[in-house]
Amino acid sequence: MARINDNYLKLQAGYLFPEISRRVKEFTSANPDASIIRLGIGDVTKPLVPAVLKAFHEGVDDLAKGDSFHGYGPEQGYDWLSQVIIDKAYRPLGVELKNNEVFISDGSKCDSANILDIFDLGNKVAIGDPVYPVYNDTNVMVGRSGQINDKGYYEGLVYMPCTEENGFTPAFPSEKVDIIYLCFPNNPTGTVASKEQLKAWVDYAIENDAVILFDAAYEAFITEADIPHSIYEIEGAKKCAIEFRSFSKTAGFTGVRCGLTVVPEELLGTTANGEKYSFNKLWNRRQCTKFNGVSYPVQKAAAAVYSDEGWAQVKEIIDYYMENARIIREGLSAAGIECFGGVNAPYIWLKTPQGMTSWDFFDKLLNECFVVGTPGSGFGPSGEGYFRLSAFGERANVETAVQRIKEKWGK
Ligand SMILES: *Cc1c(COP(=O)(O)O)cnc(C)c1O
Repeated sequence: MARINDNYLKLQAGYLFPEISRRVKEFTSANPDASIIRLGIGDVTKPLVPAVLKAFHEGVDDLAKGDSFHGYGPEQGYDWLSQVIIDKAYRPLGVELKNNEVFISDGSKCDSANILDIFDLGNKVAIGDPVYPVYNDTNVMVGRSGQINDKGYYEGLVYMPCTEENGFTPAFPSEKVDIIYLCFPNNPTGTVASKEQLKAWVDYAIENDAVILFDAAYEAFITEADIPHSIYEIEGAKKCAIEFRSFSKTAGFTGVRCGLTVVPEELLGTTANGEKYSFNKLWNRRQCTKFNGVSYPVQKAAAAVYSDEGWAQVKEIIDYYMENARIIREGLSAAGIECFGGVNAPYIWLKTPQGMTSWDFFDKLLNECFVVGTPGSGFGPSGEGYFRLSAFGERANVETAVQRIKEKWGK
């Protein structure tokens, strides 16, 4: 019989979201009249904007005619999409990229997982805690870790606790590592890194020959002027960082699927013989073999995000979500609940009142306010005692949720 990949058995069962569903289901069957408000999941709620939809439709129509039909596209994405991203998303930040450094994909979850293909298994990896679970699980799947320990950490991976004390920007790893995952604006904490903080990371990575895997999925939600949108705004970052971006949260593409990964030509690793080699070449090779590009209408739709009209429409929705974030943050703060994030990201990371555990607070919020959020402990051991509320939702629901919480906890 064929042997399975035993590494998968090390994975902690997908516990968080199934357990949330189970508890919500149990509550709703006992309380069928309770009007539940869901601020738990990290999915957008607004539909695609008109300019994007129009381009999407045109892309589909092109496929219906012989002279504009498109079959297999370039595995790296169409040049016109990479170029519009370079011109509209990077150049205004003072970042110059070459077309061959931008790889279009079906999303940054897949890319941040697949990127491990081009790194040797012997590399040491540092991961934040709490964290987007994909970084942890994909390293376990490829066999870079041992079993999970009592603390909730996989043996063999290096963890960087993100706590109130360090402002949710972790300290450098406690031992020498080769790969460092950073996500700013952060999911789940909603916090950001300043230019100085990112510069310290870039300097550290260069000094230690480490590669930073920088997840910028939420960069479009940054509202403060001096917060970096891209790690390449930091001098030297092209020598040490790969950046992931996504149209998912920015433009409501969670179901459409489009993202991008930047692998600069300057980024080098070493071969078994100690020679320098380009990660860009490896990623290109990997994509050409294992990926066949994003569908043409989706790339048309993605390019329309960066048209003047498209961006104005997309920005309006981002502002809407960020107003939700403000309402949640200010409402909860007024009720005496300590909140982090929510200024440059669509997530509010709150400290559970009265020292409750994350799950106790989940139950209390569900039972007394009919509001569903996400227990912080589900994102890692350092998330215990915290709770994530998402700003993706309809305004009236957000206002009602905040009102209910205020009535319950307001002083
Ligand atoms: C939502 C999210 C993404 C985006 O994933 P896609 O596959 O592009 O939808 C990436 N990173 C983080 C941290 C996220 O929360």
